[in-house]
Amino acid sequence: MSLSDWRVGIGYDIHRTGADRPLLLGGVSVPAEAGLVGHSDADVLLHAVADAFLGAANLPDIGDLFPDTDPAYKDADSGTLLGEVIRRVREAGFKPSNIDAIIHAQSPKLTAHKRIIAESVATLTGVPADRVSVKAKTGEGLDAVGRGEAIAVTVVVLLVGA
Ligand code: MG
Repeated sequence: MSLSDWRVGIGYDIHRTGADRPLLLGGVSVPAEAGLVGHSDADVLLHAVADAFLGAANLPDIGDLFPDTDPAYKDADSGTLLGEVIRRVREAGFKPSNIDAIIHAQSPKLTAHKRIIAESVATLTGVPADRVSVKAKTGEGLDAVGRGEAIAVTVVVLLVGA
């Protein structure tokens, strides 16, 4: 395998808190006071994962693929959208090596949920669970995340030429 067969991708997303719906993180419903605002199901982690995959493969981003102005994606299942992303990435000749994610959330506390979230991301992406890392950081009371007004996610993925 040559060096050029390795592709790294970064994904980022942020959604406002305060929606009257379940808080979905990586396809897992996490107990919380409120869910996230969004056109789809607002799964901020899966959106960032999808963009990391698309970025690594240099494909159009999720805003291009699934526009939030399109009624077809109202309350859309982000796991299904991610499945389409994975299909495109594999079709482009890549398979994922590992995923590393940071969830930036002042609340709820995610310590007890990180492993199940990572396992769900593993299932949805086809990456072995021992190659999916999910970390959680608070906003230390600073900025929109720190004030509890939003949850953000940063993801890095490594793809290998299949
Ligand atoms: Mg989003």
